[in-house]
Amino acid sequence: MSGWRGNCCVPVAGSSPSSPAAPSGPSGTKHEQARTFLEHHGSHTPLPAETFTESGPTIRCRIARLTKPLRTDQPEYLLTTPQHPAVRVERPLFTGAAAAGRPVQAWSGGWVGRDRIVRYRGRCIECRWLLWSCDDGDNDPRGALGEFSAGYSLDPDELGMTGPQIGLCHRCGNDGERLRTAYQRAVPHWKRPAERTA
Ligand SMILES: [Zn+2]
Repeated sequence: MSGWRGNCCVPVAGSSPSSPAAPSGPSGTKHEQARTFLEHHGSHTPLPAETFTESGPTIRCRIARLTKPLRTDQPEYLLTTPQHPAVRVERPLFTGAAAAGRPVQAWSGGWVGRDRIVRYRGRCIECRWLLWSCDDGDNDPRGALGEFSAGYSLDPDELGMTGPQIGLCHRCGNDGERLRTAYQRAVPHWKRPAERTA
């Protein structure tokens, strides 16, 4: 692991030819821990088998892309609403660097003379995509937020429960299997309100 460079880190992980699918191994091994870490912070894809044949023995490699975690006190899929002063921008930026450095942005993207405010909320519980929402509630992914919209996030209100909203991107929200596992992971963070005694 080469360490964080700016907001991302691009290590190359080797895996033995007997486990070509992924850097896997028995549970609890260094391989397994590395894989869990990679999948929590980013993604990994295989490199062509011949990538390093000229420089040494043939080993299968995977390249990993990760984004630096922004907060360490809680999982980033538990959405929060930062209250920093808004930074004025020409156009909103939705990168990891923007989430860390200017999590609240204002730009003149609304009706003439009206500013829009966008806030970094957290990450998708399934794919760790960065999620943002606008104060005016227009979080349609066809609008200014695009794929970064937090508008598909899971709200405990929908199940009559209380707790934090759980980040979900619109791609995962439109994938039946991912939506199902997202709910399974979200519900343990939620509570049923105390039953009323009438
Ligand atoms: Zn997602």
